[in-house]
Amino acid sequence: MHILVQRQRAQINKMNFNIVLEAGKERPIIRRHPWVYSSAIKRVEGKPKPGATVQILAHDGRWIAKAAYSPESKIRARVWSWQESEAIDHAFFKRKIAKAIEYRRDWVKNTNAIRLIAGEADGLPGLIVDQYDQTIVCQFLSTGVELWRDAIIASLLEQTQCTLIVERSDAAVRSREGLQERTGILHGTHSGELIAVHENGVQYGIDVLGGHKTGFYIDQRDNRKMVSELATNRRVLNMFCYTGGFSLAALKGGAKSVMSVDSSGDALQLAQRQMSMNGFSEERASWHDADAFATLTTLRNAKEKFDLIVLDPPKFAPSVQHLERALRAYKEINRAALQLLNPEGLLFTFSCSGAVSPERFEETLASSVSEALGHMQDPSANYRIIRRLSAGLDHPVLASFPEGEYLKGLLLQRL
Ligand code: SAH
Repeated sequence: MHILVQRQRAQINKMNFNIVLEAGKERPIIRRHPWVYSSAIKRVEGKPKPGATVQILAHDGRWIAKAAYSPESKIRARVWSWQESEAIDHAFFKRKIAKAIEYRRDWVKNTNAIRLIAGEADGLPGLIVDQYDQTIVCQFLSTGVELWRDAIIASLLEQTQCTLIVERSDAAVRSREGLQERTGILHGTHSGELIAVHENGVQYGIDVLGGHKTGFYIDQRDNRKMVSELATNRRVLNMFCYTGGFSLAALKGGAKSVMSVDSSGDALQLAQRQMSMNGFSEERASWHDADAFATLTTLRNAKEKFDLIVLDPPKFAPSVQHLERALRAYKEINRAALQLLNPEGLLFTFSCSGAVSPERFEETLASSVSEALGHMQDPSANYRIIRRLSAGLDHPVLASFPEGEYLKGLLLQRL
C-alpha cells in the first residue's frame, strides 16, 4: 500500500471526532440501524475528513457507535461498529471480509457467480463485491469504504486468491457522497473476453467492464432457477431481458419458445453470444430490440398469449420523490402482462426500486389485477399469488435495516 496514503489515513483516524445526536434521535442507531441522517445530528466536534471514523454520541455524551463520516451526504455517517473496544483498522476489514466469504462458501451452491459482500448486511456499508469465477468486481459507494479502499482490495486479493480485480464505482449514488465515478482494472490483466461463469447448469458470459452494475444480475439466481423449472413446454415472454438471464434459464428448462425484449442492442448481442456458449439453437428463441411498453400493447392488439411471462424492469423509482410515478408505471406494465397470460399462465414480476416496499408493490399488483379483470370477458378468470420472491441467499438484509431489501417480486398465476 502507498506509504503516504497509509500515513494520511493513520493521521485521520488518530484524531478524535464526535457526532453528538439530537435528544430523542438515538433510538434507531442504538437498535442497529446503520445510518445517521444529518437531521439527527446536533453537532459535529472537530473537522473530520470524508470517510474518517467518528464516535456517535447521545445528546448526553453516552457512547453509541463508531461510524464513517460523510460530510456531503444526507446520510452523514454509516456505522462500522457498536462495540467501543473494536478498532476500525486493516484487521477490522479483514475480519468482515473473511466472515462474508465464509457465509457464501457455506450457503451458495451450484454457481461461481456470487455476491461476496452486500454492504450493510455484511457490516460494510457502501461496499458491493461480486465474484465471477476468478474475477472480483467491486463498487465503493460511500466515503468510508472509499477511504479504506486499499485495505479492502488487499484483503480481497489475499482471501479469494482471485487473479483479476475490477472496479465499477460508476454508480450515480457516488455523487451524493461527493465522490467521482471511477472504473478500471485494480489488479491483474483483463483479456477483454467475457468472463465465463455457470449457474444451475447454464453458462453465462459476463462483461465486467461494460455491463450493468458489476455485469450481471446475480440477485435473480433463485428466481432464474424457478423460471427454468417451470418453463418446460411453455411459451415464454421475457420483458426487459437485458443479456437474457431469464431467457437462457427458460431455454435450459425446455421452454417451447422464448421471446425476449429489451431496448439495449448491446445487451441483446451479448445474449446471443451466450446462446452459442450453451449450444442453444436459435429456433426456440427470438430477440427484439424494442420498447417494452409499446411491445406489450402490440402483443395485446395482436391477441398474443403466453404461458410464462417475466417482467423485471429497471429501477422505476430511483428515490422516494419518484415513487408515485413509478407505481403508476408498475401498475401499467403488470396490468398489460396479466392480460397476455393464458389460463394457468404464470407471471414473474419484480421491482428493484428500494423506494418501493414489498407491501406497496403488492398493493400495486392488486390494482393491476383489478384492472386486468375489468377488461376480461371470461367470468371464471382470476389470478392468485403463488409465491413472494426476493434476492438470493448471498443478498441478505439486516433485520434492523429493512431499506436494504431492494429486490422484491411476486409469482402470480392466472386461473
Ligand atoms: N431482467 C434482467 C435485468 C433487467 S435490467 C436480468 O435478469 O438480467 C433492465 C433492462 O431494461 C435493461 O437491460 C434496459 O436496457 C432495459 N430497458 C429499460 N427501459 C426499457 C424500455 N422502455 N423498453 C425495453 N427495455 C428497457
